[in-house]
Amino acid sequence: MPELRFNVITREWVIIATERAKRPDQFVRKEAKKPLPEHDAKCPFCPGNEAMTPPATFVMPDNSNWRVRVTPNKFAALNYEGERKRVMQGIRRTVTGVGIHEVMVETPAHNMTTALLSDREVEYIIQTYMDRFRFASSDSRIEQVTIVKNHGDAAGTSLEHPHSQMIATPVITSQLRLRLSHALEHFDEYGECIFCRVQSQEVEEGARVVLETEHFVAYVQFATFTPFSFLIMPRRHMACFAEINDAEAADLARTLRRCLAKLYHGLGDPDFNYVLRTAPVEYSGVKYYHWYVSVIPRLTKLAGFELGSGMFINVSLPEENAAFLRGVKVD
Ligand SMILES: [Zn+2]
Ligand SMILES: [Zn+2]
Repeated sequence: MPELRFNVITREWVIIATERAKRPDQFVRKEAKKPLPEHDAKCPFCPGNEAMTPPATFVMPDNSNWRVRVTPNKFAALNYEGERKRVMQGIRRTVTGVGIHEVMVETPAHNMTTALLSDREVEYIIQTYMDRFRFASSDSRIEQVTIVKNHGDAAGTSLEHPHSQMIATPVITSQLRLRLSHALEHFDEYGECIFCRVQSQEVEEGARVVLETEHFVAYVQFATFTPFSFLIMPRRHMACFAEINDAEAADLARTLRRCLAKLYHGLGDPDFNYVLRTAPVEYSGVKYYHWYVSVIPRLTKLAGFELGSGMFINVSLPEENAAFLRGVKVD
């Protein structure tokens, strides 16, 4: 019998197709990806081609020998310059398209991937996220800051050179607004952060845990929507990513790198997205919300039912996914 499971964080049902669930090894990539060159003369993100992008807004550790380089997106979804203006016209409303859309080049090497970087190099990436998140959050026109990574065609990458993006928007999305309000309702009813509660139950049960470190727990959600998706959640209660301290940032770098290495070695470098899900900075310190990183391998396609209903059918078992990832040995 298939099982419907309720995701208490998103408040959505998911169908776990227990009987026709695929085994974890059926998700392993069959044909190797085509190898990339270490340097591509036409790539705007490769060293030596810096003039092909707008001037850098941030570099780690310095300009002469950068390991991470941030520039405004040349094809930005939103304009940095301009005033946020809301216009109401009858039932219609519009807001001027101001915001911040940056590209964070994660490594000088065209053919590198996070799973194979050193912990120090991933730490540069996390420190870059912290800097850009704080920068965008301090702009009074900005309501929401989203940091994402797209890896591979199925994840929507247009350039193969490893990079993340930050899109800071002049409005808050209904997805985040709903999650904030659901978390607040849970806090009012039960007097606890729902994320802390879920995390402690997952740690206690252990069946869906992928990896535990001093400051983070990576686990597959009980009602996860897609095969091998998992969360990396800080143990310490924090509503906003900007509240992270240096020790936690270093541990996040190592945890993220190890988790991605498990995907890389276990599933043959699958395409994936990861998203930093956080409350906006003005929610720092609230007791009911809790930031985390959501890692979503793109192993299946959305079909009409998912688009039409908002309900996912997961053709794998969360417990088997977690056990499989736990078993992939990484340093
Ligand atoms: Zn490149
Ligand atoms: Zn919490």
